[in-house]
Amino acid sequence: MTGQDLPLQNGTVPLVEKRGFGTLAVHAGSPHDPVTGAVIEPISLSTTFAQTSVGSPVGLYEYTRSSNPNRDNFEQAIAALEHAKYALAFSSGSATTAVVLQSLAAGSHVVSVSDVYGGTHRYFTKVAAAHGVHVTFSPCIELNVEELIRPNETKLVWIETPSNPTLGLVDISKIVGVAHRHGILVVVDNTFMSPYVQNPLDHGADIVVHSVTKYINGHSDVLMGVAAFNSDALKERLTFLQNAIGAVPSPFDCWLAHRGLKTLHLRAREATKNATAVAHTLEASEHVISVNYPGIDSHPQRAIAVKQHRDGMGGGMLSFRIKGGQEAAHLFCKYTKIFTLAESLGGVESLCEVPSSMTHAGIPKDQREAAGVFDDLVRMSCGVEDAEDLKADVLQALKLAVLPAVSNGTNGSA
Ligand SMILES: *Cc1c(COP(=O)(O)O)cnc(C)c1O
Repeated sequence: MTGQDLPLQNGTVPLVEKRGFGTLAVHAGSPHDPVTGAVIEPISLSTTFAQTSVGSPVGLYEYTRSSNPNRDNFEQAIAALEHAKYALAFSSGSATTAVVLQSLAAGSHVVSVSDVYGGTHRYFTKVAAAHGVHVTFSPCIELNVEELIRPNETKLVWIETPSNPTLGLVDISKIVGVAHRHGILVVVDNTFMSPYVQNPLDHGADIVVHSVTKYINGHSDVLMGVAAFNSDALKERLTFLQNAIGAVPSPFDCWLAHRGLKTLHLRAREATKNATAVAHTLEASEHVISVNYPGIDSHPQRAIAVKQHRDGMGGGMLSFRIKGGQEAAHLFCKYTKIFTLAESLGGVESLCEVPSSMTHAGIPKDQREAAGVFDDLVRMSCGVEDAEDLKADVLQALKLAVLPAVSNGTNGSA
């Protein structure tokens, strides 16, 4: 490691902030191996690290659950990209949510947006209560967060923006303004946008969390999560829980996710370009009722995207209502040839799914529809294939899916 490598790696915020996103993605947390000069870090699979005398480890490490070189490097890279002082990695996005909730004392209250990720909803409603933490959900948090706050009890406001699967946006700084007036922390799940498109801490949020499984790793081959923040007190509390609970990722997964992260800017730009092209194609189709995509002008909260997202980008996720009801939605996902019918998102390959029958099937129909998740809604994760191929795939699948469904008299577009 030479002196001139250090500015990107020593984690000091002023030096880090001078670099562009792509430079940081490639170099932050990526020291050359000081012994061999290897440009890519080795994977440290060792679970334990030698000590020369009791209490004097050879290097920085003692036992891998507490810390290891690959996790440290990944965390440093995420901290740089989310404009945070600290980042902590966990074994999944869900474990990250669990640890943040477990940091609250019994008797704490949380206010959350209603349409959070399904697993987050499950943890909030079925697990948090067991350790005395209660969550109130709001479908319009920008309007009523203040009245939902309970003096001395509410400790967190939880936001997910864009929401899943309808891509509704929340104005982060507006929520932060109210929460901070009451001394309450704001957490933003930034999984759908990735740190390239949106940096919630820049809008005043206190903690940003990710399912690394999605855009950050980006290759659909690692399950992992991460939280990033600036507070020293949070660093102490969450580091303690990371080690005490032990829901940590393996060194191999950290290494893979870090490799994926190095091309996040390239992937996020391509995915946005593709999603924008697909959204316009869908909007122009006679077989489509409506399109939800924050990157185009028809989105009702487009102004928030312009304010909150890099260059007003919409990201790679969109959803749309197809004419012909649930049957057409199912057929569409069956007939696409490039979009694979599967759950999850954020990988290099394009995916599609029907939320009401798959990711959101557990939510009662009336609640689902109140949130805009109709049986004819299709969710798409645009990958980094060629836009022309994705557009052609969507058009041929629409044609095959809608005509039989409509002629069967199952047009559920009402
Ligand atoms: C996938 C996802 C999670 C959960 O992450 P896992 O890594 O699957 O545990 C949380 N939030 C959002 C928005 C997600 O898409």
